[in-house]
Amino acid sequence: MNWLKGPTSKKYRNNLFKILLISILVVAILQLIYITGGTKMVFVQLLYIPIILSSLFWGTYSGLIAGVVCGILVGPFIPLDVPNGIMQDPINWISRLLIFLLIGFLTGYMFERINRLNLKSPFYNLPNAQKLLRDIEERSKSKEKFKLFSIKLTNLNDIEKYVDNKLVFAIVDNLAKKLSHCCGRNAIYSYEKDELIILACKSCNYDYEEKIKEILEDYFDFPVSMGGYKIRVSLKVGIYEYKGEEITPIEIYNKARIAYEQGEEKESGLYYYNVDLESRRREVQNITGSLLESIDRNELYVMYQPKIDIINNRISGVEALVRWKRNGNEHIGPNIFIPIAEEIGFINRIAKYVFDSATTQINNWKSKGIDLKCSINTSVNELIDDNFTAWAKDIITSKNLERLDFEIEITERAIAYDDKKLIEKMYFLKELGYKISIDDFGTGYNSLMSINEIPFDKLKIDKYFIDRIHKIEIEELVKHFIEYAHTFDKIVIAEGVETEEQLNILKRLNCDEVQGYYYSKPLLPEELVEFYINFNKGNLIKK
Ligand code: C2E
Ligand code: MG
Ligand code: MG
Repeated sequence: MNWLKGPTSKKYRNNLFKILLISILVVAILQLIYITGGTKMVFVQLLYIPIILSSLFWGTYSGLIAGVVCGILVGPFIPLDVPNGIMQDPINWISRLLIFLLIGFLTGYMFERINRLNLKSPFYNLPNAQKLLRDIEERSKSKEKFKLFSIKLTNLNDIEKYVDNKLVFAIVDNLAKKLSHCCGRNAIYSYEKDELIILACKSCNYDYEEKIKEILEDYFDFPVSMGGYKIRVSLKVGIYEYKGEEITPIEIYNKARIAYEQGEEKESGLYYYNVDLESRRREVQNITGSLLESIDRNELYVMYQPKIDIINNRISGVEALVRWKRNGNEHIGPNIFIPIAEEIGFINRIAKYVFDSATTQINNWKSKGIDLKCSINTSVNELIDDNFTAWAKDIITSKNLERLDFEIEITERAIAYDDKKLIEKMYFLKELGYKISIDDFGTGYNSLMSINEIPFDKLKIDKYFIDRIHKIEIEELVKHFIEYAHTFDKIVIAEGVETEEQLNILKRLNCDEVQGYYYSKPLLPEELVEFYINFNKGNLIKK
């Protein structure tokens, strides 16, 4: 009974059940015919039921077989009139058998057609997602390796809106035609209007991946001429290779779709699935909902890390660093939730929250005689948002503070010196009186030459270089950064200073300020007051 277990057991059990049902039905009807007096009675017509059921379950062939079996069973073996022992005329039961055959064939054919229509895409002459999932299931059950290509045409909506909707269908049809030359039309499926899927199985021709890539790359590089238009179609292709894992067809399909979510939204490209992608997606899903509620639920708070002016040995200011304690106990780092907040458009609310907390805090310290400058991290999306800059214009005056006490940090990775809008906003903030710092310097793509075209006051050298500053070539590089910034009268601050050795090298290189665990980790406001008092008394406890 091994066949009742295993992956296909469900299908076997199903079929067994159906065969049993039909057999019981046939036997019961035959008995009824016999008991009620023979085939002269109307009950013989009931045999259409098992014939139609067979066609419904298994299609034309089984409809025909059921027709023959029922025709014979109710043929020479059952009398026309049981009480009087009158047998049927052969012409009678043979013509009935032929009618049963015809019904079995016609109903089977009809059901097959309806089924086929259900498996067709409503948009294109291609099989649909239901058929795709069935085929994936079949292949995965036989443990066959295959690759799934999910091809998303990302700018079809724009083409439909601004050009013509018939063109959209023509573009996809054309692409399907080109792809069919290498993999056959049966391997191409349509999911939605703007998505084609190729199921590339080993037995068809596994190596046509290269050909598919060639066709797609043609689309990446050249516009398509169609209906008098020259259209640039953007295609994002996700590829997933199935190697026999125990996962459902829809999971397999989703992996190919997850793969194409990499890269810029509307930029063409070919992307392979990897596991990190999925865990990141899950993390985003998991965090997104609760992040939106974090401010209202008072789960965000701000910590302050001191920055030390190593030339005059004094605290030059603090950096405000946001923290999130989800559900009151789970700490989630800004490196995780800030990029998600940017992705879901929640970053401006966080920025306002941090700005608001930091300005209130500075006022609070001022009232206690502690005068500190504060830097606040921002992202490009915040800076280029007109609402944010307008808000940054008002908040300081409304709180009666000096803008010079505030520094806006922007990571170098996000700065493209030819991004006019960003540079304009940076100038705007500088004119308002804010200082501007380039954070994580050295991790971006700006050369020292282009950095000069960006308005800034401070350069924060990334921890990456400070961690390796004991290496002579890195020390030389850091020296170069510092000297270059000094020629433009900019202040240089080293991030992530953890040891005395690092501090001494930086002092020798004339670095202006340092920030790092050597002096202090980020602190809560009351801890910072303690640190401030201890530092100024000269009895600082080093961590
Ligand atoms: P960042 O602006 O470069 O901040 C410095 C990060 O290095 C902070 O991590 C700080 O805790 C850590 N750090 C400082 N000194 C040391 C050290 O000596 N050793 C080590 N191992 N780490 C040190 P944190 O707070 O986890 O922040 C990570 C990043 O998240 C920040 O990097 C910043 O880019 C971003 N971020 C933090 N708060 C905000 C915010 O309010 N808005 C925005 N847009 N980004 C924020
Ligand atoms: Mg920073
Ligand atoms: Mg940094």
